[in-house]
Amino acid sequence: MQLRYDVNGEPALTCSAFLTDYAPGPIRVEPLRNFPVIRDLVVEIGDFHAQAADRQAWLVREEHQPLDLGEYLQTPAQMDEYTQFSMCINCMLCYSACPVYGLDPDFVGPAAIALAQRYNLDSRDQGAHERRDVLNTAEGVWRAPSSGNATTACPKGVDPAGAIQRLKLSTALDSVRSLLFPGVHDDLPGPGLRLPTALVSTPTLHLLVLRAAVLPAVRGCAS
Ligand code: SF4
Repeated sequence: MQLRYDVNGEPALTCSAFLTDYAPGPIRVEPLRNFPVIRDLVVEIGDFHAQAADRQAWLVREEHQPLDLGEYLQTPAQMDEYTQFSMCINCMLCYSACPVYGLDPDFVGPAAIALAQRYNLDSRDQGAHERRDVLNTAEGVWRAPSSGNATTACPKGVDPAGAIQRLKLSTALDSVRSLLFPGVHDDLPGPGLRLPTALVSTPTLHLLVLRAAVLPAVRGCAS
């Protein structure tokens, strides 16, 4: 059972924390911020599990290969693409640290986006376009801040902020592609959301792409 609270104003997984980390004190323990309090230190987090269903947080296959062909095989490199995002333990600390979620409970939130990205990056998955329809919205990735608080708060090194930035870029590029090649986009099997890590980890390239082409398209989609 996970124990998560605000400790001295910061979200913390207290079942794995040491008192020495907070020495010499004092220590102030409060309910996890941004969630409705049921009683005392107990908060309601059921919202996240409902959202996971909306994001189709599972492997989606449009075409199923015959059973006699066995499992859907994957190389170690393909597995490395999404492994980090699969380490989420649903502790909700990133939601507590997120300034937007505190103001807008309809925001899908950092862990749900990281979970969607976990499946988008899985070579066996074919559901990226369906998730894009949910995430490429005002309450989806475009509502997410660029503060990085979610990643700082995560005790498992999941990097929800990185997932959000990657999805912002890939959904924006998908929007541009849809404008340039209407009708072609939906026939593609989903690689538009699988940008190479080297590409999406280049901040300068992000800025160039966003400034040159993507932002006008995004504004158009949002209006
Ligand atoms: S992404 Fe990290 S902080 Fe957020 S729910 Fe998952 S494990 Fe917890």
